[in-house]
Amino acid sequence: VFDRKPLIAGNWKMNMDHVQGITLLQKLAWTLADAEHDFDRVEVAVFPPFTDLRGVQTLTMGDNLPVHYGAQDLSAHDSGAYTGEISGQFLSRLGCSYVLVGHSERRAIHGETNELLAAKIAAAYRHGVTPVLCVGEGLDIRQAGTHVEYTLEQLRGSLAGVTAEQAETLVVAYEPVWAIGTGEVAGPKDAQELCAAIRVELAKLFGDEVAGKVRVLYGGSVKANNVAQILAEKDVDGVLVGGASLDAGEFANIVRFEH
Ligand code: PEP
Repeated sequence: VFDRKPLIAGNWKMNMDHVQGITLLQKLAWTLADAEHDFDRVEVAVFPPFTDLRGVQTLTMGDNLPVHYGAQDLSAHDSGAYTGEISGQFLSRLGCSYVLVGHSERRAIHGETNELLAAKIAAAYRHGVTPVLCVGEGLDIRQAGTHVEYTLEQLRGSLAGVTAEQAETLVVAYEPVWAIGTGEVAGPKDAQELCAAIRVELAKLFGDEVAGKVRVLYGGSVKANNVAQILAEKDVDGVLVGGASLDAGEFANIVRFEH
């Protein structure tokens, strides 16, 4: 029995052009339809590249497919002279339910700060798109033993300005950087420790009732063969999957973790 509806999310990163993306989603849809997957029980979301979103919208609408989708990033601004940026308004009009904010690759490669991420989260809420805020420590921090404080600092900094009402729909993904794309999975107890610490911090920020509604996901080398034990932990409400979400069969098996 889950306290919150589990969310299985696939981050395609910079993989799958708009043709490949549609093929992948179609395969996933067929596999889950064959298995009679109950989308009301376990929610499924994909995060394709921007250029795939229109096709994903068309496919999900046309096939009445209850897979939710979102973008991997958004601008802190709504419109104007911001060459190369994508507005939350555009995402909303394309039917995006979610948007990733502060993925570790954006923090590391693009130097995104907590302050910028707070502005991006505000932009997402302005347009009715639910942010999936990613937090998590690198290997050096883990080895120094300061991972809990470090992760909570990212959380507080990125959520500056968010109201309790907004936070009710928030999703947080705890992704230890040392476990992303490395085949190294944080143990279920490590995942639980941080997801629980995140929930306690959310309770301090927004109250117990809101903290009880926020879904906290784990991400980092999740596969079909390790997902069930991670999701067995009390405060882990879902998973954010990178590499394994590019294979329709493997991702479908992750979605079907209960079987
Ligand atoms: C990610 O980048 O969000 C991720 C969890 O990647 P992977 O599953 O490939 O480790």
